[in-house]
Amino acid sequence: MAIDILVAGGGPAGMTSAIYASRAGWKTVLLDPLGGGGQASTTDMIYNYPGFPEGVPGPKLMELMTEQAQSFGTEIVFEEVKEVKRLSGRFYVKGEDKEYEAKAVIWAAGTRPRTLNVPGEQKFLGRGISFCATCDGALFKDKVVAVVGGGDSALTEAEFLTKFAREVILIHRRNEFRAGMASVRRVAENPRIKVMLNTTVEEVFGNEKLSGIRIRDKTSGETKELAVDGLFLYVGWIPNSDPVKDLVDLNAEGYIKTKEDMSTRTPGLYAAGDIREKPLRQVSTAVADGALAAWSAERYVLENVK
Ligand code: NAP
Repeated sequence: MAIDILVAGGGPAGMTSAIYASRAGWKTVLLDPLGGGGQASTTDMIYNYPGFPEGVPGPKLMELMTEQAQSFGTEIVFEEVKEVKRLSGRFYVKGEDKEYEAKAVIWAAGTRPRTLNVPGEQKFLGRGISFCATCDGALFKDKVVAVVGGGDSALTEAEFLTKFAREVILIHRRNEFRAGMASVRRVAENPRIKVMLNTTVEEVFGNEKLSGIRIRDKTSGETKELAVDGLFLYVGWIPNSDPVKDLVDLNAEGYIKTKEDMSTRTPGLYAAGDIREKPLRQVSTAVADGALAAWSAERYVLENVK
């Protein structure tokens, strides 16, 4: 099967690229280990995506984008990309058990959650430690959970968890949040969220399941144990740029540098969404990246590929 435009990643950027490319009539294949959705589909409600004055559930929005891409002919394959090569002007994209050949590639593989790297963490991943409040929040009805991080994710998800947990302890390593004012205000006004600033998590413990964490007050240096049933980590993200790292320029954190048209230093390879070096990572900016990347890939195929 000759693929015109291969899209890696099915979050808002990848799905938008696929919508544009397939609607323009190009044979478009989108690879995603989960079949699409991305980080946006793990967000309970998205309030700042235009067109939804009451907010829109992240999973619903992504379901609609996926349906739209498929309605124009995008083929979605449950596949994680391991390697991308360019030989004689064609791309060879290796998945877990298949290789795909494409004329142009849009890399929209996003990011994966960062961990704390503290003792006990690996043991309790999935046994009390989670990266997804939308997926796991309901497991903690009337329990006590801690959320770590000071960005928009930590604050938004801490607020969401108060729907279930009787107490949410929000732990941040500095004395000032990184999140926007709207989230900071909502958290301050929520009586079920207890904020601990200047505090780090030093250790995670339990038996079969997580039962507590050891925290350190950075001002006094004192440590103490806190009994918690769940621990939600929102301490940033690691870009999934490894499979294309030899074809693009990366910044110090591993994000891909692109031009305004989403092109990378390899002709025919575009990057879109959270994987890019950019100042604002939102669904709306990912969608814009995706549209531009598809438009650029289309121009590239028309002008350069026989
Ligand atoms: P982020 O903005 O990178 O925040 C990560 C947080 O984790 C920071 O507060 C950071 O602390 C902390 N952190 C990093 N490493 C840590 C460690 N080892 N131990 C303890 N804390 C650590 O990530 P994010 O909150 O996931 O947001 C990512 C992007 O998505 C942002 O651009 C954000 O605006 C956007 N987003 C937006 C919304 C929304 O608009 N509703 C919702 C979710 C995400 P420091 O502050 O000290 O660096």
